[in-house]
Amino acid sequence: MFDKILIANRGEIALRVIRACREMGIHSVAVHSTADSDAMHVRMADESVCIGPPSSTDSYLSVPAIISACEISGAQAIHPGYGFLSENANFVQVLEDHGISFIGPTAEHIRIMGDKITAKTTMKDLGVPCVPGSDGGVPDLETARAVAEEIGYPVIIKATAGGGGRGMKLAQTADDIESAFQTARAEGKAAFGNDEVYIEKYLGRPRHIEIQVFGDGKGNAVHLGERDCSLQRRHQKVLEEAPGPAIDAETRERIGKICADAVASINYIGAGTIEFLYEDGEFYFIEMNTRLQVEHPVTEAIFGVDLVREQIRVAEGLPMSFTQDDIVVNGHAIEVRINAEKLPDFRPCPGKITQYHAPGGLGVRIDSALYDGYSIPPFYDSLIGKLIVHGRDRPEALARLKRALGELIVDGVDTTIPLFHALLDEEDIQTGNYNIHWLEKWLESNLAAD
Ligand code: ADP
Repeated sequence: MFDKILIANRGEIALRVIRACREMGIHSVAVHSTADSDAMHVRMADESVCIGPPSSTDSYLSVPAIISACEISGAQAIHPGYGFLSENANFVQVLEDHGISFIGPTAEHIRIMGDKITAKTTMKDLGVPCVPGSDGGVPDLETARAVAEEIGYPVIIKATAGGGGRGMKLAQTADDIESAFQTARAEGKAAFGNDEVYIEKYLGRPRHIEIQVFGDGKGNAVHLGERDCSLQRRHQKVLEEAPGPAIDAETRERIGKICADAVASINYIGAGTIEFLYEDGEFYFIEMNTRLQVEHPVTEAIFGVDLVREQIRVAEGLPMSFTQDDIVVNGHAIEVRINAEKLPDFRPCPGKITQYHAPGGLGVRIDSALYDGYSIPPFYDSLIGKLIVHGRDRPEALARLKRALGELIVDGVDTTIPLFHALLDEEDIQTGNYNIHWLEKWLESNLAAD
């Protein structure tokens, strides 16, 4: 059993993990850069260690700094949150070598899923449906042209090491293929140090549906249904909901079982998310994230499980505390991501919070590291909070979201709160009629910057 866990992260996700630790009677250790000395995760943890200057490369991403903090504090395990080192196979390898437990999958599984080509091949072999495209990497422009002709335009060229919406380029016609190919390669090289790319059919109006899976590392795995994360801006999720408005119980069972069986067969341990595009009743695998997702609370809300607690349990070698039969959908949950950004162009807007008031009441959860007088530093991502609502059904969840957004006050910086007020008035949002392109189109006609 762990009695001390270090959280290698900051912001709301660090709080999320600290809360789970406290409920389990486990001591928590926060790490922080010099820019985060006053951050809420530092205040809330049982102890804290400063790991470096503001730049995340020298602090939250520094493997030696994190290992030293672990050794100084005597923590036996590290929870990585999401982002930063959470999907860094080398980091996990170093921990394995140092005898520090990683609360997450093995270095090998992270490596397989971190390379999108290997991930796709692996999933295909495990019987998971994939987007039609190249068989592995595409070495040169000539091959790219040939593959694109074969699968038909439009196609998307993706960097195998890509992530966060980077390293993906669309080619509508044969005229675009050369520039898409070169740009995707260059982006892959610049951002991820790897210029290998592959090609996929570009789907015109899919939904983004992802399946939450959970394994115990001993060949047992369950699925916790889907989340619909189709509302995206620049391939980044903005609002997520569970269950998906377009998914019925039978479809959930079918795809859920395929995913649970796939991860069970590789002895996957911990939380994972298998992401699909969903169009005309068909699922197409795009990638697997080997960590907790930002949007995990909507799953927790409808199934009544604490995913972080489960992550810690299986890392300790304990079994999961639920079985597939316990996973029964209860109501509907929606999450909105509150970013410190100025509309209409979503420019990051760090600064001092002059007033903060969190909403409350039945079915309302807020995961945020904000407090009155807090200064949001300019060095990290702009997510400052997540508002999650749960209702008996989708209309109730929507009404609750509108009510809770009305209570939420964040003064001193610009935020994306007005965007959600506007979206909730849209008929397509009320009826759940949207796909991955809906938000970009809506922003163009409703929020275009002049
Ligand atoms: P990342 O790792 O950068 O998040 P993903 O492969 O998960 O990249 O894709 C992110 C988003 O890009 C998807 O949710 C979807 O909106 C869009 N996308 C990816 N692949 C395709 C495709 N083949 N056709 C259409 N859109 C796609």
